[in-house]
Amino acid sequence: MSSSTSPVAWELVDSSGRRVESGQTTVMGYDQASGDHVHIIDFSSCKTEGRGFKLVSGSVESLPFNIDTDIYSKMKYDAMKYFYHNRSGIEIKLPYCEESQWARPAGHPRDVMSPDPNKSYQGNYTLDVTGGWYDAGDHGKYVVNGGISTWTVMNQYERALYYGDTSVAPFADNTLNIPESGNGYPDILDESRYNVEVLLKMQVPSGALKGMAHHKAHDERWTALAVMPHEDPMDRYLQPPSTAATLNLAAVAAQASRLWEDYDSAFASKCLTVAESAWDAAVANPNIYAPMEQGPGGGAYGDDYVLDEFYWAACELFVTTGASKYENYLKSSSHYLEMPSKLVGGEALGLTGCFDWGNTAGLGTISLALVPNNLGASEIAQAKANIKAAADDFIAIGNAQGYGAPIEEALVGDNLVGYPWGSNSFVANEAIVMAYAYDFSDQKDVKYLNGAASAMDYLMGRNPNVKCYISGYGENPVQNTHHRFWAYQADNSFPKAPAGCLVGGPNSGLQDPWVRGSGWLPGVRPAQKCYMDNIESWSTNEITINWNAPLAWISAYLDEQGPEADGGDIIADYGDVNGDGAIDALDMVAFKRYLLTKDITTINATNSDINDDGQIDAIDYALLKKMLLK
Ligand code: CA
Ligand code: CA
Repeated sequence: MSSSTSPVAWELVDSSGRRVESGQTTVMGYDQASGDHVHIIDFSSCKTEGRGFKLVSGSVESLPFNIDTDIYSKMKYDAMKYFYHNRSGIEIKLPYCEESQWARPAGHPRDVMSPDPNKSYQGNYTLDVTGGWYDAGDHGKYVVNGGISTWTVMNQYERALYYGDTSVAPFADNTLNIPESGNGYPDILDESRYNVEVLLKMQVPSGALKGMAHHKAHDERWTALAVMPHEDPMDRYLQPPSTAATLNLAAVAAQASRLWEDYDSAFASKCLTVAESAWDAAVANPNIYAPMEQGPGGGAYGDDYVLDEFYWAACELFVTTGASKYENYLKSSSHYLEMPSKLVGGEALGLTGCFDWGNTAGLGTISLALVPNNLGASEIAQAKANIKAAADDFIAIGNAQGYGAPIEEALVGDNLVGYPWGSNSFVANEAIVMAYAYDFSDQKDVKYLNGAASAMDYLMGRNPNVKCYISGYGENPVQNTHHRFWAYQADNSFPKAPAGCLVGGPNSGLQDPWVRGSGWLPGVRPAQKCYMDNIESWSTNEITINWNAPLAWISAYLDEQGPEADGGDIIADYGDVNGDGAIDALDMVAFKRYLLTKDITTINATNSDINDDGQIDAIDYALLKKMLLK
């Protein structure tokens, strides 16, 4: 940030103050989302690793930082360990919790509930919903939100089946240091199963709504901070069933069924039975909506548009079973093969994004594009093209922003334009879509990988708060996450959060009394500065399973992609048209053939666009010729 309207000189100095790189800034100008006047410094040409570098411009200098090619190899474990730490119904203990400060007795070890007596829905039964992951800073279990979170963790594994390597962490058995390590099953599937099991228990057992899933299960009233789960004093109730929850259950159970088929066919079969019965119940009860208003003791997760959930569930059931009834449904859906770059359903009103807990169509499209199924080749190709088009949108949006965040301000409340609750999770989910665009592009177009890495750069500190929104990482990481057990700031006898937790981040709504009491008013403060690292700020600094799931996904992905993805832009190997590592006469031959046939699969597109103008044409051919003659 600098108020100067002309470029200013900058230097990158090492820990001894020696100049490593220098240059002039590029003036970006006034940036609405941050309220800053922004200059860009590009020091991606620096390939020197080390600690204690600083950027200096005039009298201004950055925090000291490291330049490293290994950023994600530990984060991918920490981000996944979040789910173990937040398990309900089981003692959290060494060696799995890594340090004794994070050990605790089992929370809600017998979590048996009846429908909430204060709601109009009544049922003469109780459900044993012991287990699963706590949703967020509170002790609720929500089927809508549990759904997308569990799907994301399982999808991370499913992607590795086709594009990655399931023999390494966090996929293989014995890689995550969890109680199920060594049981012969992939550890990431074990972790996701811990929540699948509780989702399966949420079905209405009898009566007119038999087969529907309860929307959520949580405390009667909100508890205070610094409360361990086993000391939760509140009564807990099942909240009324909803169509959205039922379809979340159908989708996730269908996905779990195909992933467990090779490991535990009895469990796979149970999952499929539940998935199909949930689908039938949703079809019979297609418009039972959870209320949009927040009741006491739990988040609302209200959603009055569920055709996206129907489409998602149909996709998962079709991929798993191949049955024509699901194929017919999804092909007739207005969401068929869709990957949004703007969200309009649930609580979202035109936000930049691909999916969230209330907008689930994109999840179905990913499964159709990723997992072999009986759709035609042209339809699969269209799904992939739609994913790439959304990624292109995110890259363009990021490039237009001062701090490179792939998100635009949007209507987020009554007359309030800015960033939504959990804005960081929109960025993290978009990074997944950019990663898939990279997987799905014929010649691994690096702009998609750079887009995903740039989204992480924003989360890790390239933002106006100079804050790493992931605990334990970066130069100025978040310290005081909103969580009832990791509540050190509220009560020093409680621990801080372990490393690898992603907070929701800037939220223009500024709903919590703490930020309001600090004089921060919605609509006045720039969107990206609506963030406070304080445990009381539940509207900007909470953590939750559906935000950590994309963090786990993308950190493992970027680690898999290697050092290139760790440190800014990847430089194309211009001229290596055939991608064999050398620039020689064979590249001329390949280029000439391409100009005749226009068959893009015969060349490396990134390396062939030598003048980087987005076209591969005779000008690039002439430049290649010149390179070789020189
Ligand atoms: Ca295992
Ligand atoms: Ca929806």
